[in-house]
Amino acid sequence: MDHRLLEIIACPVCNGKLYFNQENQELICKPDALAFPLRDGIPVLLENEARSLNLEESKP
Ligand SMILES: [Zn+2]
Repeated sequence: MDHRLLEIIACPVCNGKLYFNQENQELICKPDALAFPLRDGIPVLLENEARSLNLEESKP
């Protein structure tokens, strides 16, 4: 995951900053409790492709 890319992409729902989860290879939006997948290293920033975070994962 390119860190410069991470700086320019934003959550499609709230337009907020996303955090990259290295372990799961997902981009996390905490306010929305959504995790966006990466496909071939490309972030898929679509709300209907996102996974809802569970309670444990959405902790601050
Ligand atoms: Zn968001």
